[in-house]
Amino acid sequence: LVRLRSRLSRSQNALGKGLLTLLSREHLDDDTWEEIEDTLLTADVGVQPTQELVERLRERVRVLGTRTPDELRGLLREELLTLVGPDLDRTVRTEPPASKPGIVMVVGVNGTGKTTTTGKLARVLVADGRSVVLGAADTFRAAAADQLQTWGERVGAHTVRGPEAGDPASVAFDAVKEGKEIGADVVLIDTAGRLHTKTGLMDELGKVKRVVEKHAPIDEVLLVLDATTGQNGLVQARVFAEVVDISGIVLTKLDGTAKGGIVVAVQRELGVPVKLIGLGEGADDLAPFEPEAFVDALIG
Ligand code: GDP
Repeated sequence: LVRLRSRLSRSQNALGKGLLTLLSREHLDDDTWEEIEDTLLTADVGVQPTQELVERLRERVRVLGTRTPDELRGLLREELLTLVGPDLDRTVRTEPPASKPGIVMVVGVNGTGKTTTTGKLARVLVADGRSVVLGAADTFRAAAADQLQTWGERVGAHTVRGPEAGDPASVAFDAVKEGKEIGADVVLIDTAGRLHTKTGLMDELGKVKRVVEKHAPIDEVLLVLDATTGQNGLVQARVFAEVVDISGIVLTKLDGTAKGGIVVAVQRELGVPVKLIGLGEGADDLAPFEPEAFVDALIG
């Protein structure tokens, strides 16, 4: 947790600091509230949540009258936390009571960090004493299966792969079959994410899903989203949500952006919680998303 704070703080707390500075002005006039709004919009919080937050803050500051820095910080913290959703269930469902192995499908546009996230997640699970099978169902990006296998070797997970440009659904099928045969605890399936033909993606992901579900229910479908892509990322997210039932979001590359507000925007957009965040390219750079730690990092 300490690490999460320090890791985020470098780029993130520009947002919180900016807001606190604005709130501390002696006269909070319309222009200042507009600047507060702009600051939130620049951090990708999104139009509607921004307006809601500003309205609530404005009212609370008005009621409070004179205000100390501590009071302002407290108000801002509370309102940001409300926006982020402190009570959402962010558990990654890898321990289904009814069936073994648990099945997690990882989806998202190429380049967002799907394969890396799958590898990092495998590492967390293996470190937690669970046996993991990786399914390299991204058969379109030539290097994806190699990349996943390298992760598998690093973290101690077996990788199931198919022929290059082979059928992703059959790789996913084989991975689940293997997982069942060896009594693995979790099967993580990395999928392809070419977005240029939406119907192609629909067909392919839909097929992977159907084929896997013939074996066993899918416990978790994680959508990987690159935090640096802003509104573009939201448009992509919508497309995926039409194809598969997303159950959680992984927001990657939060280490490289001050646009942490995307957490709020994407949760609103999909109605699904951010469960994990990527904070770098290394094996240890995956963290559970903790609203309180996140907001504390924002405020600095
Ligand atoms: P995929 O095409 O979606 O499977 O994407 P990859 O897993 O190959 O990742 C694309 C690039 O993003 C790689 O260079 C990764 O190292 C990098 N990457 C992935 N996650 C993160 C992250 O959380 N932070 C940073 N800085 N880079 C990341």
